[in-house]
Formats: sequence, C-alpha cells, structure tokens
Amino acid sequence: MRFSSKTRSLTAIVAALVLASAVASAARVQTSLPWMNERLSPDERAAVLLSKLAPDDQISLLHGQMAVPLFGKPMPKGAVGSAGFIAGNAKYRIPALQESDASLGVANPMNIRPGEGATALPSGLAVASTFDPQIAFDDGVMLGHEAWLSGFNVMLAGGANLARDPRNGRNFEYLGEDPLLAGTLAGAAVKGTQSEHVISTLKHFALNDQETLRQSLNAVISDPAFRESDLLAFQIAIETGKPGAIMCAYNRVNGAFACDNDTLLNEILKRDWGYAGWVMSDWGAVPGLEAASHGLDQQSGEQLDRAVYFGDPLKQALMSGAIKPERVADMSRRILRSMFAVGLFDYPPKQGKIDFDADKQVAQRAAETGIVLLKNEHVVLPLSKTVKRIAVIGGYANLGVLSGGGSAQVLPPGGTEIRVPSRRGDAPAWASTMIYQPSSPVAAMRKLAPNAAIDFDGGAYNSAASKLARGTDVAIVCATQWMTEGADAPDLSLPDGQDELISAVAAANPNTIVVLETGGPVAMPWLGQVKGVIEAWYPGARGGEAIADILFGVSNPSGRLPITFPRSVEQLPRPQIPGLGLPFGSKVDVNYNIEGADVGYRWFARQGLKPAFPFGFGLSYTSFALSDLTAQGGKTMTATFKVSNTGAREGAEVAQLYLLSPNKRRQRLVGFAKVDLKPGESKSLTIEADRRLLANYDEAAHKWRINAGTYKLGLGNSSENIEATAEVVLEPALF
Ligand code: BGC
Repeated sequence: MRFSSKTRSLTAIVAALVLASAVASAARVQTSLPWMNERLSPDERAAVLLSKLAPDDQISLLHGQMAVPLFGKPMPKGAVGSAGFIAGNAKYRIPALQESDASLGVANPMNIRPGEGATALPSGLAVASTFDPQIAFDDGVMLGHEAWLSGFNVMLAGGANLARDPRNGRNFEYLGEDPLLAGTLAGAAVKGTQSEHVISTLKHFALNDQETLRQSLNAVISDPAFRESDLLAFQIAIETGKPGAIMCAYNRVNGAFACDNDTLLNEILKRDWGYAGWVMSDWGAVPGLEAASHGLDQQSGEQLDRAVYFGDPLKQALMSGAIKPERVADMSRRILRSMFAVGLFDYPPKQGKIDFDADKQVAQRAAETGIVLLKNEHVVLPLSKTVKRIAVIGGYANLGVLSGGGSAQVLPPGGTEIRVPSRRGDAPAWASTMIYQPSSPVAAMRKLAPNAAIDFDGGAYNSAASKLARGTDVAIVCATQWMTEGADAPDLSLPDGQDELISAVAAANPNTIVVLETGGPVAMPWLGQVKGVIEAWYPGARGGEAIADILFGVSNPSGRLPITFPRSVEQLPRPQIPGLGLPFGSKVDVNYNIEGADVGYRWFARQGLKPAFPFGFGLSYTSFALSDLTAQGGKTMTATFKVSNTGAREGAEVAQLYLLSPNKRRQRLVGFAKVDLKPGESKSLTIEADRRLLANYDEAAHKWRINAGTYKLGLGNSSENIEATAEVVLEPALF
C-alpha cells in the first residue's frame, strides 16, 4: 500500500493522539490505582493496595474453595475449574486466584473442563534423574505457559519432600532423596513457571514423607536433623526459585499440625529464612482458627475442613481483638506481594490455543534425559536397527505409558487417555484409576525399526509370554508399578505377578530387557536373569517415543538415580511403614530420628549397607573418566577436575562431589555437574560447595557450624563409585 505525504502526516497525528491518550489513561490509572504502577516494587505495591482494603476485603483473600462442584454445591462462580479458587475484587482490580495442580502438568480433576487436557511431563523422579536444572526450568516454563493459556495463575507445583521411604506413594511427584539435588531442581522448576506469570507453590511443607495416615501421623525429628535434610531442600528451593506460595502439609510435625505449626511456619520459614510469600493450607489440612496465629495465611479447599475458619470466625476474632489487625494485614499483604512479584496483576492469563506438539517435545526431552540405564550386560543395548524379531511384553506397551495417580494426575488432550481400574483397594476412591498416556512404546519401536517383526503380548499368562519370547532375538518386558497419592506401596515388588512374568520370560529368552515404569525403586529379584534394565519412571506425554529412542540408541542414556534402590525393605530405617493397615485417622508417630539427616544413600553409608543400585548411578552407551582432582579449602570447599568421554559416542556424565569426612561413615553430596561430551572430548569443571552441606546445624547457637579441620572429599559418578579423593582444610565458621 502507498501513502500520500498528507495521509502519512495524518496517520502520524492520529498515532501521536492515541499514544498521548494511552499515556494519559495509564497516568490516570496510576493516580487512581497507584498499586498498578509497575515501577513500584512488589512490597510498595502491596503496601499501597493494602492501605485501601477494608477488613472484609482482606478477609476475602484469605480463604477459598475447591473449584469443582462438591457436596451438592455448584462450582464457585467465576472459577475456571480445578483445585482452587479465591475470588478477586473488581473494585481494586485484584484478580481471582485460579489454582490448579501440579508439578507434572495442568490437572483437570473430575474432567471438570470436559476434554481439556494438558501435556504430561515425566515424573519428578525422572526430572531429578536428569541432574539438570535447565531441564527442570524448561519443564517449569512449559507448565506455566500451559497453565496461563488455560486460565490459571497459581500452580500447586513444586513438590520438594525428600524420599525418606522408597514406598511413599508420592515419590513420583518429588525429586528424590538428596536435599541439594531436590532443592536445586525444585527451585529451577518454580523459577521457570513463575517466569510465565504463574505462581508456583512449593509443597508439602514439611515431612509429608509417607502417605499412610498422612492426616493423622506425627513426624518426629530433631531440629538439627530437620534443618540438614527436608528443611534444607525447601530452603534451597526457596532461595533459587522464590516461590510465591508454600503449601503446608497434612501431617503433624513434632506434635503440631504442619498448617498450625508456629515453629515451622513462624519461626523457621518466616523468621529464620525471611520468606516473603504466603502459606496456603493443603486441602482440608486446617485444624482450626488458631492456625492463623501460628503462621498459616490462607485456607484452601475450605469445603474439606470442618469450618471456613478464615471466613466469619476470623472476622469475629478480629472484631473481638482475639486476632490483631496487623496479623490479618500481614496475611493479605503476603498474598498481594506475591501476586505483584510474579506479575498476576500485570499479565493476567489469556485462555488460548496451546501448542501441544512443541510442549510434547519438552516432555520427551526431559523423559529421555531422565531415563536411567541400570544394567547392560554384553552390551545388549542399544538394539541394532537390523534386529529381526522382537517380543514386547506387558505394561499395556501397545497402548501407552503409565502415569501416577492423585491430584498430580494429568489427562492428555481430547480424552485420549487409557483408563484401567486399579485392583489396589487402598487407593482413595477419587484416585483409583490408572491412567496411561497415549504414547505406545510398541508403536514407537516399530517406527524406529520398520523392518523388524515386533510382536506384543499383554503378559496375562506367563506361558504365552514365554512362548512369544522364545522365538525372538530380544524380549522386552515393560513392567509397571502404579503409585498414587493417598497410599504407599506395601513392599518393593512389582504388582500383579510381574516379577514372576519377568523370570518366566528371561528363562525363555537369554536376551531379556526390562523397561521399568515405576513410581520409585523396586526390588528386582530377577536382576541376575536379565541382560538389560532401564528405569523409565513415568515418562509422560511422549514416553513411548522416549523409551524407544533409548532402546535403539537414538538417545544416549544420561539419567542417574536420584534415589537409592535397596535390596530389600530390611535395609530401610523403617522396614515396616508406620501405621500401615491401621484405620483412617489412627494416631501414629513416625520416628525420623532413626536416620535423622542421613536420608537414602547417607543412611546406607552410615550403616555400611550395600544397595542394589546406589544413588547417582546410571550407565551410558559411552564411557567416561574423572581425573585431575584438585581442591581448595578455607571458607568452603572448591574442587576442580576433568571429565573426559573415553568412548566412541557423544554422551553426558554427571560428576558428583561428595563430602566423605570427618566421619568415615558420613557422606553428603556437596555438588554436581552434568556435562555433554563428544567422543574424546574433555572438559575442566569447578564446583564450589554450599557451605551448609559442610556444616552441622548447631541447635544451641541456632546457626550452621563448621568445625576447623581436615576434610576429605570424593569425586565420583555414584555414591558408591568414588574415583578420586582429595583433602582440604576448612576454617571454623558459625553462620
Ligand atoms: C494434595 C495437594 C494438592 C491439593 C489440591 C491435596 O490432596 O495433597 O498436593 O495440591 O490436594 O488438589
């Protein structure tokens, strides 16, 4: 199009007028609604807005409903529909909080938004296995973006509980057993999600480390052990990710409910750590109004509690003086501050089209980077593309890949999930269907090896599966262990006779490979009979493709275990899950002082136990060397070393730095780095330890203490395989 000079100047005048009027109206907004001024800090904006809010306006921010029809009542008005809803306030332009679960994708409980699905990320343990904060960040961005495009501005995403028990039903939502690894990755994921203007909620604070009797158990732990383990994971995640909200847990901690726990919420979180965001309750976790004085800022899913404590009762308490106006203001200020900090006022969600193809690639990359190759005898893997006959057995591998149950359940778009009712009687009724993501390993394998005959048997009969396996070059058993919120696994076996199935197949075919899709460690009594094992966890929306890529060597496995695989439950601090089998509501103490801060591999080191597979372990299709370790002491420990790819193909190694002293049986991961290397390539790396990992928490001084002395550190590629050691002298410190 061509413009005359007259038209051009007219256009310029109109544009200038539009701009001027936009500036003027922005200025008007800023004078009449000064908290909308983006140049002010989140604290300033929250303070200005708070000064305008009447007590009723404040109180309405402090409680909200579950955003589904419940107990005969409709879904709250204005809710998008998912886990939670807190009404906004149009007069002050306060947006409603539209909340959805969870860390592995945007949930759609009760299919409340019919047919609306989301991209399922691989499980938390898969992400932790990547040992790669960038993957966690990218997952967080994808999650935040899908949430934002679905109308949500708060994700209940950021599970950071430590895996103290491999049977915990929610380990698949969490990031393993080590505080540095879990904290670093949870923080990175939160940061990613919040970069999309969606608040991410670190949870479940704290020690909701088993599902059995989660609403009535009392977790017992000493202050130093607590600070050095579960709390440290949360602390690191908060420092890294600055989550807008923290969700307190269902259980008690040292006597008081986590959501009504002055020590946990007021002293540790808000005073010691200076946490600036808000504490929301888990759904149905508020024991009473006094929780407000003990640090809880917001009651979530209020239909599930005995009363809407943070509604009228809070107002009455405010009027009678039982609760001070400053506390109610503080509760509201914390919520508003996070909303400003993450951009909820300035960048409200816009429901729109999601690019599922692009997002699935994010999920697939995380899945492939997180799959762990556990065994590869006689280099049975990767499979040659010229292999002629393959038997694939079990795990509904002709249809899809398993995912975990409960509030973190993600449904694929368009109602394409495969639903299988679970035979487990202990799973809660609302989480008792196993969901398979529609990504078939068999179909993906057929694509990669179009000339091979790939036959499938469901694994219902050992005899039929063995018969199929007998005539093939390779037999691949896909074995599943379904885990869900609300129940723990009673033991470490594969359910439904799959351990026997694997033995039968292995007896029929010497080239048997097991692909595990599990929510955590399993015992593998058949390990000696099979040639290969890969742990694919719950691999998400493109799990089938990820598994096939690893099996055929399109991807070189680089996942490392973020959790110890024990030989048996007898090796665990609590061979019996406390309270397992007792009726709902039974009071039980879970004594975490048995292992204290020595969770997972640290417990194994302390007890001198040999696991089946150690923390940090994982094989590759290439080989690596760690060398040239030098270390410096002083205020902290700094190690420099070389990582080399000594094999024939590109791959990634995870270098792990452990503190090995002062006590012989003490071991702590103090740093890690994942590095991609071409064949023959070497890189020099430097890792500086977080000083808290070199210290002990001194309860009396209320600080971290490093005792002066000589400390040994080890460089390795698992907690059991230390390839080089060095000694450093550390200065004494109290901080
Ligand atoms: C879970 C939380 C979840 C909430 C809302 C609870 O049962 O423990 O993790 O965010 O429900 O769905």
